[in-house]
Amino acid sequence: MIYQRSSALFKDAKKYIPGGVNSPVRAFKAVGGDPIFVKEAKGAYLYDVDGNRFIDYIASWGPLILGHAFEPVISAVVEKAKKGTSFGMPTEIETELAKLAVSMVPHIDKIRFVNSGTEACMSAVRLARGFTGKDKIIKFAGCYHGHADAFLIQAGSGAITFGSPNSPGVTQGTAKDTLLADYNDLQGVKELVKANQGELAAIIIEPVAGNMGCIVPDQDFMKGLRDLCTQEGALLIFDEVMTGFRLGKGGAQEALGIAADIVTFGKVIGGGLPVGAFAARTEIMDHLAPDGPVYQAGTLSGNPLAMSAGLAMLSQLNDSPEIFQSLGDKTAYLHKGISEVLVSKGIAHQINRFGSMISVHFTEEVVVDFASSAKGNNEHFKTYFHGMLERGIYLPPSAFESYFLNDALSYDDLDRTVAAVKQVF
Ligand SMILES: *Cc1c(COP(=O)(O)O)cnc(C)c1O
Repeated sequence: MIYQRSSALFKDAKKYIPGGVNSPVRAFKAVGGDPIFVKEAKGAYLYDVDGNRFIDYIASWGPLILGHAFEPVISAVVEKAKKGTSFGMPTEIETELAKLAVSMVPHIDKIRFVNSGTEACMSAVRLARGFTGKDKIIKFAGCYHGHADAFLIQAGSGAITFGSPNSPGVTQGTAKDTLLADYNDLQGVKELVKANQGELAAIIIEPVAGNMGCIVPDQDFMKGLRDLCTQEGALLIFDEVMTGFRLGKGGAQEALGIAADIVTFGKVIGGGLPVGAFAARTEIMDHLAPDGPVYQAGTLSGNPLAMSAGLAMLSQLNDSPEIFQSLGDKTAYLHKGISEVLVSKGIAHQINRFGSMISVHFTEEVVVDFASSAKGNNEHFKTYFHGMLERGIYLPPSAFESYFLNDALSYDDLDRTVAAVKQVF
């Protein structure tokens, strides 16, 4: 394939934008080469500025669960835009989306909209601290909760990809309130809780991790976290920015059968526009301004275009919940196909999957936490990534990212993907 125009655009972008991108993983640093500049996309396909077509496995990193330029979302946004794009005053559609989200997700009564997953997680932690009157939080190595200071301690996603899980610029003061545990290690969490008795505001976790590849939680581990939080008077925050409205209507809470105290959203809830949200039962949410003292605000929060995209997306998922099954089936089919190829070629690997999240790890060891995920062979991953790209398959450009399947993918697309894996190895 020829990527001439993408490379030229990247060169120009680098002059004016740090690294040429507005979010680091897009730059292809982990896999080498220049990133591809997209011209447009429809359904399961991306079209780049050089005229190449790719089957897309990132779906804008999750939001586009029904494929690109999904007609009901596009027309909702276009119609809304004609009536004005922002008012800084209440609009009816905010309540419509809130009502729908609250009806789909268990254990939440009220929801506040923000503009990104980062904002949602940052605000959720502030609310947990305001509610409990305590400062410390526990997070897990390799989990990513956006780029707010408190989370850039052994963070996942781009932060690991670029070797800065602990970012410069985060003060010691902030870092000391973030305690670090290993995913799926309940004993470790128990010890941390004991050593910080009475100081813990919250445990924040990706209930199915997707930012160190896909990692499925042990049932006892999750149940243990729930019990610990209840005993300790700390809040359990499920960061469902990735899993929310992807694993099912009710997200990971429903899929795992575990109730969280605060849930954060992003990605799918905005239908491809910038939306984040956090939600909890009334008793907790009423601590937020203007009802309560915990401050949180946003000039463009609840933006009508963003709300109309989110409403069109969630309405579709609410009315056709069989989409989740269909996506899960497609992901299982892809899993089986890739696995058969890698086994037949004798390549050491692990494939982790939950619902429509899946990741391929080039390692012999089971991948259950950050340490085991980091053992993956990155040279193998690079070969795989570029080989697939060359064959028109766009995978996440980092071994630490989950694929996000979208329902526009056909079984023919999946077969072509598996055939490409066979050619690459
Ligand atoms: C993407 C992601 C975030 C951050 O969301 P942004 O919209 O990129 O700020 C937070 N948590 C999880 C689990 C995510 O996957």
